[in-house]
Amino acid sequence: MKKLYASADRLLVYHLQNALASEGINCVINNDMIYSLAGEVPVNEVWPELWLSDESQLKKARKILSELLIPLKCRPGLWHCRQCGEQHESQFTECWQCGLENNG
Ligand SMILES: [Zn+2]
Repeated sequence: MKKLYASADRLLVYHLQNALASEGINCVINNDMIYSLAGEVPVNEVWPELWLSDESQLKKARKILSELLIPLKCRPGLWHCRQCGEQHESQFTECWQCGLENNG
């Protein structure tokens, strides 16, 4: 299991799960308890998380995610991999091209 994405936007996480499923990539959603725990746990600690079932599909899954998230790209936080130059959304912590971690 590999964590792909997390967002406070629960509907977006479900949308991404459905879109990946249509490409033959199965994911499960963890922490989908944001409403039942509201007021008990800081909201950003219970963001719904999208987890990839089959890690061999990681590269394809991240590529699809990045394409789905293009409309969100106008916000700040994009980063470029120091090693291969690949551009990433801020929520990704490592390069899907070469695996390098983004340390800021
Ligand atoms: Zn890279």
